[in-house]
Amino acid sequence: MNGTCKAAVWVGEEDIRVMDVQLPECRDDGMIIKVEAASICGTDLHVFHNKPSVPTILGHEVCGTIVEMGKNAHKTIKCYTGRLKIGDRINLYPWITCGNCTSCLRFGVGACGVCENSFVYGLPYECLGMSGKPVMTSSMETEPYIKGGFSEYMYILPGTYVWQVPKDMPSSVASLLDPMAVAMRAVELAWRSPGVLEDVLNPASVALIIGDGQIGALTAGCLRMLGVSKILIAGGRTERLKVAQEISNADCILNYHTQSLEERKEIIGSYTGGAGADVVFQCVGNGRAFRDGIELMRSVGTLVEVGNIASTSPIEFDPARDLCSKHATYIGMSVNTPMAFNKAFHMLCKYKELHLEKLLTNCCTLDTVLETMMNSSDPNYIKGWVDLAK
Ligand SMILES: [Zn+2]
Ligand SMILES: [Zn+2]
Repeated sequence: MNGTCKAAVWVGEEDIRVMDVQLPECRDDGMIIKVEAASICGTDLHVFHNKPSVPTILGHEVCGTIVEMGKNAHKTIKCYTGRLKIGDRINLYPWITCGNCTSCLRFGVGACGVCENSFVYGLPYECLGMSGKPVMTSSMETEPYIKGGFSEYMYILPGTYVWQVPKDMPSSVASLLDPMAVAMRAVELAWRSPGVLEDVLNPASVALIIGDGQIGALTAGCLRMLGVSKILIAGGRTERLKVAQEISNADCILNYHTQSLEERKEIIGSYTGGAGADVVFQCVGNGRAFRDGIELMRSVGTLVEVGNIASTSPIEFDPARDLCSKHATYIGMSVNTPMAFNKAFHMLCKYKELHLEKLLTNCCTLDTVLETMMNSSDPNYIKGWVDLAK
């Protein structure tokens, strides 16, 4: 493509500027999409307070329409839903892995965060604190320049996994594939072989979700769709709790501002015959919430830790009481896979039943994305997204 396009570039501490960025030539093995919607990820909100290693177009939760396609792109870009063509609307897995390193050979091609030579759209790789080294810089000064979603156009590199978005699904909803895949991954990690002692996720289970943000709400929604018996959601912001309940049709919401730990224990006990929750999905980024999860989980329970991806406050942990005598399973997570994204894609297709549009609370433009990110701690903020469809 010739000329330039507008993009929001992260250049410094809390500094994102709209600028004209060079459009690349579409190579034989690549594609260019016109971005329709790009959501603001929790990771974006975490990192943008710092200075980026290189000027980077943020945004990796993207839906857009294919406008240019190299002659081999239908083979080099991996589409789960059919043969790609110009005019298709797609969403994507934001990671590309090498397929050749010891981690790819050990864990499978596509597993993010462990590959020794990978690339992620819309973020400088260095800011993620993961192992390995990037195969390509995220800098908007280096070809193919448009490597993030807060941009009118975005380049799709060979090796990217994509899905064709159904015609009736709004682009904003399609951009939720990444957070839905986090929720889906958390849920699949709690699955066990049927009948074993530690089987905690099935139609009979009582699940507790800690966190009223997007990941908590989506996790609760996945559990509802999968037929879990009782879903309880704990949080601290009334409006957000209400949305999470609407999305998941949750049986009960708990508010830690108005209910003590003992009171919350008692309410959970009323669903379990006095025990804690069978399975806890902890989706809040602080140590105290993890501690609450330990207290609110039953014996022979499972806790999936989703929220504490960055260091906050250390907590007290007694291996005898909290682990052994409880026969507890704790599962940490940060690695995801295209296969989990594929499951998430199919869950996303149930967006009408899940009312996923309710999560998209703060619509903005490239010009107002910084302001929206600065205001993300507002009590009613759940998810910001950039509308580029106009
Ligand atoms: Zn994300
Ligand atoms: Zn690799």
